[in-house]
Amino acid sequence: MKSRLKKVARVLIEKGHDAMLVLRPENMYYLSGFSGSTGALLVARANSYLCVDFRYIEQAQRESPHLEIVLVKETIPAAIAELREKLRFNTLGFETDYINCKLLFNLREKLPGVETLPMDGVIEEQRQVKDRTELAAIAQAMAMLDRGYDYICGHIKPGVSERDISLELEMFMRRRGASGTSFPFIIASGPRSSLPHGEASAKKIRQGDIIMLDFGVVMNHYNSDMSRTIALGKPPPEMRKIYDLVLEAQLAGLNAIKEGVTASAVDKAARSVIEAHGYGDYFGHGTGHGVGLAVHERPRLSPRDDTVLKAGMVVTVEPGIYLPGRGGVRIEDSVVVEKYGCRLLTKAPKNSLVEI
Ligand code: ZN
Ligand code: ZN
Repeated sequence: MKSRLKKVARVLIEKGHDAMLVLRPENMYYLSGFSGSTGALLVARANSYLCVDFRYIEQAQRESPHLEIVLVKETIPAAIAELREKLRFNTLGFETDYINCKLLFNLREKLPGVETLPMDGVIEEQRQVKDRTELAAIAQAMAMLDRGYDYICGHIKPGVSERDISLELEMFMRRRGASGTSFPFIIASGPRSSLPHGEASAKKIRQGDIIMLDFGVVMNHYNSDMSRTIALGKPPPEMRKIYDLVLEAQLAGLNAIKEGVTASAVDKAARSVIEAHGYGDYFGHGTGHGVGLAVHERPRLSPRDDTVLKAGMVVTVEPGIYLPGRGGVRIEDSVVVEKYGCRLLTKAPKNSLVEI
């Protein structure tokens, strides 16, 4: 944690800023270890201060013994103003993509003369490469998805609703240690599978339906993410064709990953397979994204992200084809980027369209 804070302090010095206010919970946890939902972390060049109210004092002292804990008696802006008396900072960086207008106005009011500056992405950039402890937590959460998938395949039958499948899957994984879900599960069957983000509905599964399952859980604060598409009985032949194509694209994406390549090159490797077969217009999202303390984080495997991949990054590879009104297929795995390739974290079978 201390070395992470030092890196932020170094950015402050480089940019000529005095301090940064960190409010996004993932960033606060990353730098401080504090896992409460409300608080503020003030990172100054020499020291950092964790500001929490009465409800979190004991927790903050326990989780962040390396930091000075400040009790918030009224509001966070008031606590920051008190710290200013002591630290005398003149510039304050903050996360413009997280802070809300009310808080910003209050901060400016309480800190007359202090210049507030955007400092987006400083911590998100650091978070991209995971250390050993982080990788262990992520691997554990991902392994839970493989177990969940294996279990739920035995529970998909005609007449069972998407919502029932979602609940059953969540319950299975939570009973075994998952602390929550990374996002509302996507369980989309039959024609609904053409909705890339079709949350589980009351629709009942019918014989011949294709079923897209996209799910993730949190363990030790870290997220996981995997998709599989299966069929109940014989699916329409078109879906089988699309499945093989999406699989080919996904394998091309996975094969393109190694340290030194750009995120956009991985996207291109997967996308060009789908485009070459004339389905480019039906693959309207990026090929993948980073996973960590947030389920969607940097880098983005998209045509617009030229981040150079580094060993220790965790990304998903999830091309899909969605035919409106007919159905869709997505296959998603999460991997760790390595020097000469990547290591799969999700290992559930996918080699051909499974009929259950
Ligand atoms: Zn997913
Ligand atoms: Zn994903």
